[in-house]
Amino acid sequence: MTPPEAVLRQARAPVDESPDPHLRIDPSLCDGVGICSHLAPDLITVDSWGYPILTPARLTRAGDRRQATAAVAACPKKALYLGH
Ligand code: SF4
Repeated sequence: MTPPEAVLRQARAPVDESPDPHLRIDPSLCDGVGICSHLAPDLITVDSWGYPILTPARLTRAGDRRQATAAVAACPKKALYLGH
């Protein structure tokens, strides 16, 4: 059973109401080849091992969302996704 304090804390937490998603990654699935950085160069860079570094910003611009959607669709490991 959930302690009452945890329930109250969750109820008082700020609600994220922005419709603009973030580009997210499940690093346990990523193989680090870096196809995504070529499809979303404004949103993704790669580290020295070839693993992606994603922008922390919300995808507020249509162009950013297009790049992100292309990268998500092309990721061979299904490691990328759009989320909040
Ligand atoms: S395309 Fe997918 S698997 Fe490849 S580096 Fe990007 S997130 Fe990782």
